[in-house]
Amino acid sequence: MGSPRKIAASRVNRFTESVIREMTRLADEHKAINLAQGFPDFDAPDELKEAAIRAIQAGVNQYPVTWGSPTLRGAIATKYGRFGWPDLDPETEIVVTCGSTEAMASTFLALVEPGQEVLLFEPFYENYGPDAYLSGAVPKVVPLGATGWDLDVDRLRDAVGPRTRAIVLNTPHNPTGKVFSPEELSAIAEVAIAQDLLVFTDEIYEHIVYDGRRHLSIALLPGMRERTVTISALSKTYSVTGWRVGWAIGSREVIGAIRKVHDFLTVAAPAPLQEAGVVALALPDEYYEELARSYQERRDVFLGLLATTEFGASPPEGAYYTLVDVGSLRSRRGLPNDTAFCEELVVRGGVAAVPGSSFFANPFDGQDIIRLAFPKRLETLRTAGERLAAFAG
Ligand code: GLN
Repeated sequence: MGSPRKIAASRVNRFTESVIREMTRLADEHKAINLAQGFPDFDAPDELKEAAIRAIQAGVNQYPVTWGSPTLRGAIATKYGRFGWPDLDPETEIVVTCGSTEAMASTFLALVEPGQEVLLFEPFYENYGPDAYLSGAVPKVVPLGATGWDLDVDRLRDAVGPRTRAIVLNTPHNPTGKVFSPEELSAIAEVAIAQDLLVFTDEIYEHIVYDGRRHLSIALLPGMRERTVTISALSKTYSVTGWRVGWAIGSREVIGAIRKVHDFLTVAAPAPLQEAGVVALALPDEYYEELARSYQERRDVFLGLLATTEFGASPPEGAYYTLVDVGSLRSRRGLPNDTAFCEELVVRGGVAAVPGSSFFANPFDGQDIIRLAFPKRLETLRTAGERLAAFAG
């Protein structure tokens, strides 16, 4: 037997296993508080769990329609209608997938030719690189501004070339917590229309926005509906990251292509959990208000705790991550880079974080940064705050 490196196809050698999920493994091994992988340490709403149990007991245990159960697609269309999307056709414009992760991978596979370029705003969520490599696409980064992560439209325009096919737009943004402003979305839309590009969005944190902000989907801007794939999931909004139920929304033609890939990759997302998703999507407006309020409280408590330590960070506008500059602490401890820092932090500090390099094309750009996730109970955040303060010394 050769080494795995020789066995694996070349496309697999282009990327590593997920750093985020590796940090979860390390956190478990060292019994550390996991502020690495973004998932809640509180439970999903009871009515969702009961709906899932009811569906299993009622015999919803065989393959659903590959594109998603008709009731769930109907519930997605109705819920998007409530949040400002007119006329979404559940028959042709929605495909239900195994989480937004599969939705994005299937979108790349369905819509990008090998050799075409896909633009990623940097820092970027680690999945988009492997999505590109698996589909033969070429990822090309467009750095966001160093202060406030603002969009530099000229940089975006300059990055577009004859082989550019799509822009990936993740808002609210992982890992920075940036929420792209309406002006930034209009600028991206203008470039996409002028250059005939597609936009693949990751809107998984759509309901986790702070300080009265509202999430806006770029698909709703003039001329964008037909060139946008809008991706989201049950995972973050309803605290069910392990259920793996997500979706992609787009034109009939776009969704037709994604459905074919999805069908042969996974067949379908779990049938009973799709039925529970119908109950989730019918939750009243107050649910979303309370979700944003409770996350804002977590953000404020956690950032307040960090502010008293060397892990000070600026408050995110949305999503549930914050990037922290640990440069001086890292050099004081004689640690060579962000990965070594995170290993030390998990083993000696009892807190798991994600090394910043996993969000940059050039690892050097993330060597002084770590990402901390705060979708946790307040008591977890308080204990984590104490541990971080002790670690900083
Ligand atoms: N989005 C989550 C994060 O950034 C992880 C998602 C996953 O592991 N699939 O931590």
